[in-house]
Amino acid sequence: MLSCQEITEIVTDYLEGRMRFADRMRFQMHVGMCKHCRAYLRQMKATIGSLGKLPDEPMPTDVRDELRERFAAWNDAQLADARKKPETT
Ligand SMILES: [Zn+2]
Repeated sequence: MLSCQEITEIVTDYLEGRMRFADRMRFQMHVGMCKHCRAYLRQMKATIGSLGKLPDEPMPTDVRDELRERFAAWNDAQLADARKKPETT
């Protein structure tokens, strides 16, 4: 099973069709079960859509880093939310 971190690392390969069939299946399986990665994938597609095409070069590092930061910040927010819930023990 791929981790969310791995998904963020291979999402451009997936979108550019540079992935082996077995890897695509594993990617899709994770995204199918993980709403975080579904949202991330949507965001990546929107980013690529705003560029008008798939980049010939790998995604610029700054764009990729920004997305990763947003993704990380969002995960942190979810964790913070979970922590806010009152302890029952
Ligand atoms: Zn995930």
